[in-house]
Amino acid sequence: MRWNPMLRVGAAVFAVGLVAAACGQQESLGGGGGQAPEYEVVQDPRFAPGTTMAELSEAGTIRIGTKFDQPLFGLRNLDGQMRGFDVEIAKIISGQLGIAPEDIEWVQSPSAQREDLIERGEVDMVVATYTINDERAQRVSFAGPYYQAGQILMVRSDNQEITGPDSLRGSGARVCTVTGSTPSENIRPFIEESQLVLFQQYSQCRDALGTDQVDVVTTDNVILLGYVANSEGQFKLVGDTFTEEPYGVGIPKGDVQFCLFINQALTEAAGTGAYQRAWEATAGTVAEETPELPELNSCR
Ligand code: GLU
Repeated sequence: MRWNPMLRVGAAVFAVGLVAAACGQQESLGGGGGQAPEYEVVQDPRFAPGTTMAELSEAGTIRIGTKFDQPLFGLRNLDGQMRGFDVEIAKIISGQLGIAPEDIEWVQSPSAQREDLIERGEVDMVVATYTINDERAQRVSFAGPYYQAGQILMVRSDNQEITGPDSLRGSGARVCTVTGSTPSENIRPFIEESQLVLFQQYSQCRDALGTDQVDVVTTDNVILLGYVANSEGQFKLVGDTFTEEPYGVGIPKGDVQFCLFINQALTEAAGTGAYQRAWEATAGTVAEETPELPELNSCR
């Protein structure tokens, strides 16, 4: 049976929204308001010479592509602090390379640019709500998945007409999503070309929804959940998730050793509880249930 997180988190969104508003913490909630957990930073790790792991641990720094505008998964606060589950996953992996969080260079990676950034060697890995699929796997390799999301719709809270993707047919609703994303493809069967509005980043869609320039924003549930939680009741999610979006760690094509290393780091994190703490400090502040690490793919 398909996992449907929205059925479970609906009430939690509402409850957490109230608590956060009452405490005046609405701003910080998006990134996971509490103290970021700390993870093991391995001292002097040993890796086979010539591997990506050896190069990175030797350099003592790593460039990680993520989102900067997605509360709960990848958010850059005004003070430059990075927050979110993707950020925590990236810190966990870096720690196993002997690289401390302050030595990570964060590179903003909009959806349409992720493969390019990896191919051009501008980032060492991408952890950015990045769905593993065959098309992308032609150009990059993926470790993971470390989480499974699903696409859903977000509308203004007073919207009674849009109840799920089928209700978009013939509605004339303007539907916003991001160029180069899987949601921009998956939504096409439900709408006319003229209904589709594409931006570079989801926060632009969210803003356009707030100003009535579009009627619907569609992407992964956990991204939209962050916007709903910060919207002070202005937005809501409607319908069920209608796709499966397994999130992978994007790395250069064919770096099997690096992929195996990342998978090992993820498996260990699930065993030590670091994975669970990462979730609870970020997305878990809004979504009630802590996920289990999905079954990992084999590395190619
Ligand atoms: N997970 C989907 C994707 O990789 C949507 C989220 C995003 O654009 O980052 O395209």
